Amino acid sequence: MRYFLRNGRIWTNDGDLIDKGTILVEGNEIKAVKPTDELKVSPGGSDEVLNCKGKLIIPGMVNAHTHLYSTLARGLPLPDYSPENLSEVLTGLWWKLDRNLDEEAVRTSARIGGMELIKNGVTTIFDHHSSPGHTAGSLRVIEEEVVEKLGLRSSLCYEVTDRNGQEEARRGIRENLDWLSAVSNRDDDLTAGQFGLHASFSLSSETLEEVGSYLEDLDTGIHIHLAEGREDQEDSLGKYGTRVVNRLDNYGLLDEKSVLAHGIHLSEPEKKILLEKDSFLVHNPRSNMNNGAGVADLEGLISRGLRVGLGNDGFGFSMIDEFRAALLLQKIYHGSPNILGPDAVGETLFTQNYNLAETAFGIKVGKLKRGYKADLVVMDYPSPTPLTGENFFSHLFFGISGNNYEVETVFVDGNPLMKYSKLVGVEEREEYQNAREISARLWEELKDN
Ligand SMILES: [Zn+2]
Repeated sequence: MRYFLRNGRIWTNDGDLIDKGTILVEGNEIKAVKPTDELKVSPGGSDEVLNCKGKLIIPGMVNAHTHLYSTLARGLPLPDYSPENLSEVLTGLWWKLDRNLDEEAVRTSARIGGMELIKNGVTTIFDHHSSPGHTAGSLRVIEEEVVEKLGLRSSLCYEVTDRNGQEEARRGIRENLDWLSAVSNRDDDLTAGQFGLHASFSLSSETLEEVGSYLEDLDTGIHIHLAEGREDQEDSLGKYGTRVVNRLDNYGLLDEKSVLAHGIHLSEPEKKILLEKDSFLVHNPRSNMNNGAGVADLEGLISRGLRVGLGNDGFGFSMIDEFRAALLLQKIYHGSPNILGPDAVGETLFTQNYNLAETAFGIKVGKLKRGYKADLVVMDYPSPTPLTGENFFSHLFFGISGNNYEVETVFVDGNPLMKYSKLVGVEEREEYQNAREISARLWEELKDN
């Protein structure tokens, strides 16, 4: 079956904006991207033509660090919760929540989170999962919901931690190994895996050593929270006499496949090591602001040549909002309106995140070009000023927000996940009603813990 996305304004992410163009999708790939009057192929019997007249078409976005399991925490009342630092955010909220997630809650969190990602034009995710009360098989449950039912391209991992004791750490390691073994035997481009670790301060030396021994034989890297709060460095210096990057490096955990979320409190020598290892940092500005965790020096990291992508750390699901927050936060942090422009921050989301996805899934993705995977987003954005291949990021920063745009159609791997503002094969109202019931039950359980 072929899809013709007709007469859109196509931003190719390859320097061009075709004002009235058509994209031909065949199988899971883009077969042609051309001005409509130059595309000679005509639709046949089973082909579908989507009218995209005047709509903006861009590559589907990648979220490089997220937590689907956090979805049911929205609006959660916690009477005695008044955290003073990141550690208290974790112990007072997230570590209470994740312990109480059973299979149904994991499933529902993933489903609603996945639906909202699609509605925000996100087509690939790197999820970091935790459910100590339901560890074994939890990644398979997430796969059923977000990959099999919704169709998102997903790299999954389970958060190994010693905070609930060694036995739970072993279960987490097992879940990662089981998942990685399952995906390595597959012939699909929709699933991938990483070795999930919580953060240095909740991981024992024995656990890090064990994970390091497995990594040698795996075709993937770790996905960990790195120097998100000052506590991570204080713990490492206090207990092990070394900083977190050095500690992870000592166990052979850092390489070009490592995905390191946050990287806020890093010393100059640590940045040098990350540059040498070519590891991938993920900036999550809204979560960092929300937790009062500090500000990652995005400008400094980029100017040192480090690879930096963009994630949401489970905070909302719009990567466009995250992009805007990243840029605004750097201006505040550096006290300058000119420290990083939209193009430089756009690189994180529209170059680095795609590089990460290409390596993880072994595919070509992120440009609207022949031979690339058909992951794309059609949005209604009635621009009041000229939109060109050169000024797209400026529109993304100043204009594509709030009521000025609406994601209407989303394709992943050549399949429509959302068409004309409706999720394909999903009864949204019923799903939200069901989620409210599961959330109410979960919240009730949290009261007693
Ligand atoms: Zn996170």
